[in-house]
Amino acid sequence: MVQHDFADVAFGQRLLSEGRVSWWEESDFLAQLRGSLPKQDLFGRLCEELQPFREQILKDLGPRVKEETCGAFLSARQGQKKGVEVASRPNQGRSLVTTRHLERGFVVIREYPLAKVLLDLENRSGLPGLKLHPETRLALQLWNAERKGDKRIEAAKDLLDHGGNDASALKMRALLAACCTLCVDVGISRNAACESLFHWLGCVRVNAVAVTALVEAEGEEMQQAKVALALYPDLARSVNHSCRPNGVLRFDAKDSHVELVVSAGVDAGEEVTISYGPTSSTMPRSQRLGILMAQYGFECHCTACGGTSVDEDFQWKRKAKMLDERARAAVARAAWQEAVIACSASIAMLRQGFRDGDVELAREECKLAGLTLRAGDAVKARELWSSSADVLRCLVMPADPDLREAEEMLRQLPASPVQKASSSSAAFATASSKSEVAAAIGGGEMVMGMA
Ligand SMILES: [Zn+2]
Repeated sequence: MVQHDFADVAFGQRLLSEGRVSWWEESDFLAQLRGSLPKQDLFGRLCEELQPFREQILKDLGPRVKEETCGAFLSARQGQKKGVEVASRPNQGRSLVTTRHLERGFVVIREYPLAKVLLDLENRSGLPGLKLHPETRLALQLWNAERKGDKRIEAAKDLLDHGGNDASALKMRALLAACCTLCVDVGISRNAACESLFHWLGCVRVNAVAVTALVEAEGEEMQQAKVALALYPDLARSVNHSCRPNGVLRFDAKDSHVELVVSAGVDAGEEVTISYGPTSSTMPRSQRLGILMAQYGFECHCTACGGTSVDEDFQWKRKAKMLDERARAAVARAAWQEAVIACSASIAMLRQGFRDGDVELAREECKLAGLTLRAGDAVKARELWSSSADVLRCLVMPADPDLREAEEMLRQLPASPVQKASSSSAAFATASSKSEVAAAIGGGEMVMGMA
């Protein structure tokens, strides 16, 4: 709960900053919240404390909480596992271990979400102002399913619910649980309801997954964006984190089912891991450790973090960014050859931080292929799209825009070397946007096909 621009988080912070529930500063409130004992009395006291502000809570949060608890609960479809088993490993708890050698591109888990909230920014409810935080919305959905006796919730009952190691986030969850239960007719004891919602808030914090998709920002290139927050119980209970993982998640845009795909070959008996967010290619060690401890409550001993105490040198990243900016500037001037050189140099830098066959590298290669084509070298462009498609076919969904573009270009461009100075390559050389390139391909298809 780092973001502050949500109704619930803003409201909770206001209560905290105004010292409305200051009694917990002096008590062993945090220790009790962390303890495994029933917390009902604790939450009873918290609800009592907040009762005088109920009118205000109802006004600020009430309609939003009601809206979330009226929504339909998803039908969870059974997940499937292949080539792996869940094993208990010393100091690690449950781990996903292979039963045989698995090749890159092998799908280990396929699962549908038990619950999901969309992160669309449009105001679905028509309510003025802010929305509830996605984590709160997802927790309310799960809580409500449990209150209604929905049996599907059993699939998530055994998931961890400690909610990480951040004391202020823990307090905030307690406060939100109390505020939310004051907003709806809970039917059972308010204290028990509050404890149950607190459980789901903690569960969502450490188990929910951000569903991502490639979306085209206005006038920009495609970017990976978080489009939903979802809970996949099987995935959550079996797959551990590594900052240098050998598995990646990919999501289906239509029904949000997730697939855990092997991204680097894994030998029999080895563990399959994913990144919970930070990776050794995106963040220095100390920062990763801090985030993993705060949100997930564990100290990372993965191959990238263990046995060292130094932060990675991210100079390659800064240089890559600088070169990428140079390429963009060249694109703006339609100086394609210059853009190709800068973009190639940027990818060479990225190779220092990403391992061969990484999706990010493949996406950059797609970009370079487009620039190379515009610079007039269709043969080289085809080579780039071909190697990029080889990686993407294994690791992303078939509908992925970069993969589709690469496949389409491979269909359009002839496999054998083209004669220079065809009318189509002249058109590519002067095309200045994706649509112009597409048009150039469209118009030049016959010429190139016969070249
Ligand atoms: Zn690590």
